[in-house]
Amino acid sequence: MTAIDSTTADAATAVAASATAIDTTANPTSGTGKAAALAAGRKAPLSDLQDEPRGTFEKVLVGIFVAVPMLALVAAIPLAWGWGLGWHDVILAVAFYLITGLGISMGFHRYFTHSSFKASTGLRIALAIAGSLALEKSVLEWVADHRRHHKYSDRDGDPHSPWRFGDDWKALTKGLVYAHVGWLFDDERTSQEKFCPDLLADKNIVRISRLFPVLTAVSLLAPALIGGLWAWSWQGAVTAFFWATLVRVAFLHHVTWSINSICHTFGKEEFEVRDKSRNVNWLAILSFGESWHNLHHSDPTCARHGALRGQIDIAARLIWFCEKLGWAYDVRWPDEARLSGKRTGTRRLGSMTRRAAPEPIGRPAP
Ligand SMILES: [Zn+2]
Ligand SMILES: [Zn+2]
Repeated sequence: MTAIDSTTADAATAVAASATAIDTTANPTSGTGKAAALAAGRKAPLSDLQDEPRGTFEKVLVGIFVAVPMLALVAAIPLAWGWGLGWHDVILAVAFYLITGLGISMGFHRYFTHSSFKASTGLRIALAIAGSLALEKSVLEWVADHRRHHKYSDRDGDPHSPWRFGDDWKALTKGLVYAHVGWLFDDERTSQEKFCPDLLADKNIVRISRLFPVLTAVSLLAPALIGGLWAWSWQGAVTAFFWATLVRVAFLHHVTWSINSICHTFGKEEFEVRDKSRNVNWLAILSFGESWHNLHHSDPTCARHGALRGQIDIAARLIWFCEKLGWAYDVRWPDEARLSGKRTGTRRLGSMTRRAAPEPIGRPAP
């Protein structure tokens, strides 16, 4: 396996860093800015948004993908007590949840969006495919949206801030629903040219992104196929489809969306931030460490989000494991010197932290 081109990785870091920086310039989406630039013979600045808005057909599709698994989840509860839940279904559902959830957390989020580590070509491709199977948009769309979220974070321009409508309880309730799922139906599409030129320059990633409809079909049908063959019955296929496709997709969707809604509203501010991101401990295991979202906004390129002692971060552990195998390298582990000034409490940083050099004791002997 060859390592990816270091210039691509550097470009990714630069884009990720610039997406994180607070942009104080006027929103370059305005047509007047574009026209003036063109009249002056300059290249028009890249807009935050794609020229083409989201169409009705696409919104209907999103609606189906949101509603059907959710209804399945509601129906799942009485079903679990009756018929149709066996060990095969549990194993398949957990396996697909792990693959797709870690594909989002370690892959789409920490690797592709924030360049928290560098990866061998094989790992890079595996992460792009695993994340796509989560059915949370293609890798290019996911990364573009998320970099825009960090650029504006709880201010105008953030695609999914719960504080968008105000901070009284009515506005916040509306905002929570919007940040959780409503934003998926927005007309606006984030510009990939502006937010992920590094990924557009990689033919493999563009190809995987274009294959999203095929990967969607794989994610929907593979559990049924495996379950059917395993049990050697149609019923095995049907129950595997129900649990390991519908329920698994719905569950992961809601966990991921909770990072946008709950983790920007409730929880602890353990590191100083300029937005409303918070650490939420009860979501840590289900989200593979993503719910340590306050540390993440405080230090976006850090590979371990649960940086404090005792904060479980499964995705960070997997990165650590891949580093040991040589598949991941140049990992940006928590840095004591960088984080100590941002901490609001006295709790110590956990394992995997790069410790600051110890203070010299007294003067060296002459
Ligand atoms: Zn992020
Ligand atoms: Zn956030």
